[in-house]
Amino acid sequence: MNHKADIMGVFVDQGTLEDATNRCIEFMNTMGCKMIITPNTEIIMSAQKDSKLRQIINHADLVIPDGIGIIYASKIQKKGLTERVTGVDLMHKILEYCNENQKSIYILGGKPGVAEKACENIKNKLSGVEIKGFRDGYFKEEEEGKIIENINRLNADILFVALGAPKQEIWMDKYREKLKSKIVMGVGGSVDVWAGTVKRAPKIYQKLGLEWFYRLLKEPWRYKRMMVLPKFMIKVILNKQ
Ligand code: UDP
Repeated sequence: MNHKADIMGVFVDQGTLEDATNRCIEFMNTMGCKMIITPNTEIIMSAQKDSKLRQIINHADLVIPDGIGIIYASKIQKKGLTERVTGVDLMHKILEYCNENQKSIYILGGKPGVAEKACENIKNKLSGVEIKGFRDGYFKEEEEGKIIENINRLNADILFVALGAPKQEIWMDKYREKLKSKIVMGVGGSVDVWAGTVKRAPKIYQKLGLEWFYRLLKEPWRYKRMMVLPKFMIKVILNKQ
């Protein structure tokens, strides 16, 4: 079952973290490379103006509501999303699955050293995960062919891509047909969380839907990007009528 909620023209999968995890396990046993996108409010707003980005998201195999704004929008417009399903949580679930089933991963993205540190911490916590490789996310377009070749040669079951949004979504869409991995997932800052270079908001902020506020306190220079949240809510309310 995969019902989609139409959030301002962007189709987001309904269901819980458990549902999303089960979908990923299904993907591991099907043909082709499945693409997972974890949009926040900012990406949904960008997709309003950028039809190519909207198309990329709407062609993904699994789209989870990572941003609390998406849940508010769904509540206001009665679209059926019940809870936030974050990329960082789904990545964790996938890694647990890999740990238990001897599956392998490759991490692409982050500043030099970040993916490597993330892999080291994953291995320490979940020793059954096979790390096939990693590489930072600052490369030239000319190098991309070689990067794909290398990931395919290493035969990683899952490719986590952390190039920031929407760069990672565009990148995954461009190469998904060429990839031999079963899953390619855009994980953004989750790699920094695994590496320990960024701390996730304490549980209380997560529970209250205030993770964005915690992030604003920690990274105040992001305020301009975050101004999109109130703008998005106004749009959602106006669209309701
Ligand atoms: N990043 C990267 N290459 C780029 C741009 C970004 O590897 O060209 C990495 C960045 O170092 C960070 C991650 O992408 O580890 C997420 O970036 P950002 O914080 O901008 O995205 P978000 O938190 O919105 O996913």
